[in-house]
Amino acid sequence: MTRGSTGDRGHRVSVGGADNEPSSMAAEMAAMPVVWRRLLVAHVPDRLGRCSACRTSSGSGERWPCSLRRIAEEAERIYELELGRAVGE
Ligand SMILES: [Zn+2]
Repeated sequence: MTRGSTGDRGHRVSVGGADNEPSSMAAEMAAMPVVWRRLLVAHVPDRLGRCSACRTSSGSGERWPCSLRRIAEEAERIYELELGRAVGE
């Protein structure tokens, strides 16, 4: 098997930057597993593929995965990475 030219585009590591960046929010949230676990449970898609937690009173919800869901997932990932780092080495 030969190596294709596609695929590995390198990983993005953003440290600092805009204070509004989701990744930095996720990094902070990673330290609070209770918070992102709750978000992961609450922000699930309904039958129409919209977030059932972000639904407004008018009935039109944010498309799932919503931004909160994505941040929570990112937080979980970071959390597990940190765990792996702490235990693995
Ligand atoms: Zn949501």
